[in-house]
Amino acid sequence: MNFYNTLSKKIENFKPQKGKTVKIYTCGPTVYNYAHIGNLRAYIFDDILIRALLYNGYKVDHVINLTDIGHLTSDADAGEDKMMKALAREGFPLTLESMKKIAEKYTVAFQDDLKKLNIFEYTENKNYKITWAKASDHIKEQIDLVKILVEKGFAYETDQAIYFDVKKFPDYGKLTGQKLEEKKTAVRKEVFEDKDKKNQADFALWFKRAGRFAGHVMYWPSPWGDGFPGWHIECSAMAMKYLGETLDIHTGGVDHISVHHTNEIAQSEAATGKTFSRFWMHNEFIVIGKDKMAKSAGTFITLNSLIEKGLNPLAYRYFCLGAHYRQQLNFSFEAVGAAENALNNLYSATIDLKKGDDIPAEEEFKKLLDNDLGVPEDLAVVWKIVKTGNGIDSLLKFDEVLGFDIKNKIKELSEIPEKIKKLLEEREEARKNKDWVRADEIRKRIEVDGYNVLDTAEGQKIKLKVKA
Ligand code: AMP
Ligand code: ZN
Repeated sequence: MNFYNTLSKKIENFKPQKGKTVKIYTCGPTVYNYAHIGNLRAYIFDDILIRALLYNGYKVDHVINLTDIGHLTSDADAGEDKMMKALAREGFPLTLESMKKIAEKYTVAFQDDLKKLNIFEYTENKNYKITWAKASDHIKEQIDLVKILVEKGFAYETDQAIYFDVKKFPDYGKLTGQKLEEKKTAVRKEVFEDKDKKNQADFALWFKRAGRFAGHVMYWPSPWGDGFPGWHIECSAMAMKYLGETLDIHTGGVDHISVHHTNEIAQSEAATGKTFSRFWMHNEFIVIGKDKMAKSAGTFITLNSLIEKGLNPLAYRYFCLGAHYRQQLNFSFEAVGAAENALNNLYSATIDLKKGDDIPAEEEFKKLLDNDLGVPEDLAVVWKIVKTGNGIDSLLKFDEVLGFDIKNKIKELSEIPEKIKKLLEEREEARKNKDWVRADEIRKRIEVDGYNVLDTAEGQKIKLKVKA
């Protein structure tokens, strides 16, 4: 398989470092609010990557974190803590207990979204193992890592925090290709700056419960007094705990490249002297017009709001797969509606497909997939099969990667609900009696339940509804 590696900025041949097992780390959500559908694109991308690896006969050892502490709203070391903000917003008391409740609430909501999108839903697959890692459960590992960095001289202490000294790590800009001098940090004038910080790009590994954080409710004892970890350190500590010092693939959205992932590399490699991750793969954004979908921009659309508009969550999945993961994708309700029509046409066509496989199509599908996950082209192969009318077995194999749940849909569609059957009989009767008005009424009732009725030479047929 070949993947684009952000580290080398090239498409490279991929093989796991050892045997058949691929070790993947994914930056998970900060569980302080609902995920928006931009966030969810990131996990649809992970899902496709993992499914493609499994399709190629690999095993996958996957770790994803849940940031339930210490993620500041600004990329700089200042700014408000996202979790603290959530407590205030929802009228919870500022206690560790309520912080846990908020984290739990949004973790459940997040995992529920993933389920609806058929993401990571192959936990029964013996070749796949997933570990959900909560930052607050791994304080010790994070402190241990900071201790190593202090001992090795990569970190220093001020009254406020322990910082990583970026000047001590010569390869600091290797992921972005930027030199340190060119790096613009996100420190804005109005936000707090620690006067004892040596370089502007130095980032906090550990915050002390002092100064502006004196009232912070989440804190743990450490060699530097009570405090809490910085955001970046959690990913390094948890990734290395579960997957070892060198990962095969690290994933995340493109917004993480310049700060979060750059810092993960610096602190991990400084501590171990080894490559932290061999491959870095990043998904592009969901945009609305020219802007990235983001909470702050007021363009916050959740999966549930799509469902409330009558859209099938798998239609959003189909919509995302229509673009390569390294291309921006412009969201609109109309576009997801069009994706739903395509998906329903696909389901309906699948029922009529003849058994058997289409070996040339399978070869083409795999070749495209193995070329940096050419999923949009793979969808074209799917439609080619539909056109020929043969090859349901191949299509079901492709669905192991695409995840449209075709197998269950066929079952569902071949068992027409009793209520619809009755309506069809009534309509047949009305047609016999040339009562076209009644026949049309019944057609509309059937449409409410999500089906189109077609009058064919062999009688009435139903298909999944396609909206005009
Ligand atoms: P966060 O909870 O902010 O850390 O985001 C979770 C994941 O979603 C990260 O991998 C982000 O890079 C990714 N992400 C954030 N916004 C978007 C967007 N508009 N489109 C695609 N991915 C995004
Ligand atoms: Zn991370």
